[in-house]
Amino acid sequence: MNDCVFCKIVAGEIPSQKLYEDEEIIVIRDIEPKAKVHCLCIPKEHFALLEEMDERRALIVKRALQKIPALKKTLGVEDGFRLVVNQGTNAGQSVPHLHIHILGGEPLPWE
Ligand code: AMP
Repeated sequence: MNDCVFCKIVAGEIPSQKLYEDEEIIVIRDIEPKAKVHCLCIPKEHFALLEEMDERRALIVKRALQKIPALKKTLGVEDGFRLVVNQGTNAGQSVPHLHIHILGGEPLPWE
């Protein structure tokens, strides 16, 4: 996906504050944080929505979710965190490349 900002970050074509990387995912700081700590866990493979997630992609996301607790200290969310996945523009998804928001670092409102 040539015009996808997250594919460009994965490819190193645009800079990011990368906190973690392995063969399947990267975790970067969000450029416009909505919480004291706001990171994005991004599968390297491009797909936009959960409905595009076949078994293989689902395993990548499952493994990503299992890795996040081990990254708590690196990310600065030892006291707890919230995971958010926006699906579709009506739900606020602005980047059509599936990603998991990791929010924490202070008490978060539950509105
Ligand atoms: P969403 O609205 O759920 O699609 O989330 C997209 C997120 O990506 C937003 O929180 C943006 O602030 C963030 N974002 C967009 N471009 C970049 C970038 N170049 N580096 C880091 N975060 C970005």
